[in-house]
Amino acid sequence: MGAKEGFIQFKRETPVSRDPKERIGDYREIYEPFSDEKLNHQAARCMDCGVPFCHNGCPLGNVIPEFNDAVYNQEWEQAIKILRSTNNFPEFTGRICPAPCEASCVLGINKDPVAIELIEKNIAEKAYELGLIQANPPTKRTGKKVAVIGSGPAGLAAADQLNQAGHEVTLFEKDAKVGGLLRYGIPDFKLEKWVIDRRVKLMEEEGVIFATNTEIGKNVKAENILANFDAVVLSTGASQPRGLNIKGDQFKGVHFAMEFLGKQNQVIGEEIPENPISAKGKNVIVIGGGDTGSDCIGTSNRHGANSITQLELLPKPPKQRTVLNPWPEWPMTLKTSSSHEEGAERMFSILTKEFIGNENGEVTGLKLADIEWIEKGGRMTFEEVPGSERIIPCDLAFIAIGYLGPAQNGLLESFGVETMENTLPKSKNYQSSNPKVFLAGDMRRGQSLVVWAISEGREAAVKADEFLMGTSNLPRKDESFFQVDEQIAG
Ligand SMILES: Cc1cc2nc3c(=O)[nH]c(=O)nc-3n(C[C@H](O)[C@H](O)[C@H](O)COP(=O)(O)OP(=O)(O)OC[C@H]3O[C@@H](n4cnc5c(N)ncnc54)[C@H](O)[C@@H]3O)c2cc1C
Ligand code: SF4
Repeated sequence: MGAKEGFIQFKRETPVSRDPKERIGDYREIYEPFSDEKLNHQAARCMDCGVPFCHNGCPLGNVIPEFNDAVYNQEWEQAIKILRSTNNFPEFTGRICPAPCEASCVLGINKDPVAIELIEKNIAEKAYELGLIQANPPTKRTGKKVAVIGSGPAGLAAADQLNQAGHEVTLFEKDAKVGGLLRYGIPDFKLEKWVIDRRVKLMEEEGVIFATNTEIGKNVKAENILANFDAVVLSTGASQPRGLNIKGDQFKGVHFAMEFLGKQNQVIGEEIPENPISAKGKNVIVIGGGDTGSDCIGTSNRHGANSITQLELLPKPPKQRTVLNPWPEWPMTLKTSSSHEEGAERMFSILTKEFIGNENGEVTGLKLADIEWIEKGGRMTFEEVPGSERIIPCDLAFIAIGYLGPAQNGLLESFGVETMENTLPKSKNYQSSNPKVFLAGDMRRGQSLVVWAISEGREAAVKADEFLMGTSNLPRKDESFFQVDEQIAG
């Protein structure tokens, strides 16, 4: 531990973001640079706890107090070594992780937690700047061939690990560019795409073969993959969106969030000239109060929307933790994202009832009502507030209420992978019902987070490596994590 009283001496400080009025004029990342001196103070706040709860909070098991200490002592080589030992892509998680580690940081009991995510991002960027991250191909090859299908964070992490284990890895991706939702879901103002390109270039230099514009099941059959590779990792995401299923949802102007966000990222990536869905001058309604909804707000503001309203079925969360939600649980408190800061009305406890349209089949309004949440028979349910039904103007609506599971396109069946009732594939320790096929990321665990996808890719790689070689030297998490995995297998 560097500074004994750092947590008393220094307050939590994170980078200043650009003025919302200015930043909605572009799609660049919103934060200003942070000085080395300030970062040193933030690292000094870590108490090097006897029981570091931050470890448990992190799905990757990041070794947080140790890298905080290395940053405090300006030992960048040591810092990146520690960070990379558990996390393949700290440059991604350091930018877009909701940081469950910070929610469980011991300092958070009565002070602001250590700025772990900020420290992580800065370790990664400093390491690139100092040339500490270089292509490091494996010295020995095993002669085994592995196909990884889907290049989101889960597929990238699995490919990186399996390549390091000496296997010949081909990563198949149906889209034109690598990255999955990192590339086509998360907007550039949260994650600029050169960050992905920089990492992909390194992985190419290390020997990973990237086959883009290749949809398995369409351009290449599953049976060809099974015949030509010794093991397969499926990491194709959970892209089946949850529908609202209300009257009028077929009107022009009602879209799933990803139809809008995916196209916008293609515009920024210069794949297409313009977004076929424009929010300019429109009254935009975003249905769903989560991250994807937030990204629709940020993008609509950048288009120049007339008004943006975000609707959430659940009640407004409290600003502070309640007694029923103590530390170190994930805080169920009101989150204000950078996109919210840029402007949007937020409404809670709202039931969306029907889209209203005109004679041209275009959406013009949304019928909604207030609801009241009540406890009935031990579970929460809601009742409509009488007389609260009304119609609000709506020219464009984005449905952002989550994902049901993997695309229902026969891919899993073609690989001989059995599924459960909820459409997720059956798995035991990341292995599917076809012993040669391993599963990782959102397609296995359902819609989740980048940090979980990386964790899943790493663990699936260990299991695939064991399958191929009888044993594996790849790093793995504590076996207790696998007990959670068994529960997912159901
Ligand atoms: C709009 C949005 C914003 C988000 N923001 C955040 C955030 O801020 N922080 C965070 O932690 N998480 C965020 N998430 C969640 C996070 O992006 C996902 O949990 C994560 O990307 C899942 O990784 P994955 O590798 O499992 O799947 P994906 O990222 O979905 O990647 C799957 C890949 O498989 C490819 N594929 C599918 N089928 C085939 C096939 N047949 N052949 C070849 N390739 C195929 C797809 O094209 C895709 O590239 C967000 C999600 C969305 C939708
Ligand atoms: S819980 Fe917080 S203060 Fe304690 S070791 Fe982890 S980051 Fe440092």
